[in-house]
Amino acid sequence: MIIEKDKAVSLDYTLTNSEGEILDSTQQQTPLVYLHGAGNILPRLEEALEGKKIKSRIKKTLVPEDGYGDYNPQLAQSYPLSKFPNADKLKVGTQFQVDTSGGPVLATITKIENEELTVDMNHPLAGQTLHFDIEVVDIREATEEELKHGHIHSGECGCSHE
Ligand code: ZN
Repeated sequence: MIIEKDKAVSLDYTLTNSEGEILDSTQQQTPLVYLHGAGNILPRLEEALEGKKIKSRIKKTLVPEDGYGDYNPQLAQSYPLSKFPNADKLKVGTQFQVDTSGGPVLATITKIENEELTVDMNHPLAGQTLHFDIEVVDIREATEEELKHGHIHSGECGCSHE
């Protein structure tokens, strides 16, 4: 079996930046399972995985424009702390969801200083060149239900099923 549209694919991977720091990894965790051809992962990664077999090893480097985009300084904004009723509970690194015209975005508090708080709505990996080291650990047919939903049901799918 090879990786192609409508296959459920399990991957072990390590993601490092250009400094060699590990940004994300499935080591000591369960592999990532995704539905191929459904836009569940970065398009360039899907391209690189197309046609691969179990035990295939893929090394892929993605520049920011093929990953999570360039860092946009305008997406980092400062607000007076007094605007946040729960200010004493907030700290650098706290993440929360913000509804924008383009859908929900994960925002991160990056600075609290001089009675001001800076919220950054860039993707945490924006501006990074991404170095993926991937091993294909399993390929199976997706179930009909998974194809209908456009994602894998591996236990952590938050959707409700009839
Ligand atoms: Zn589902």
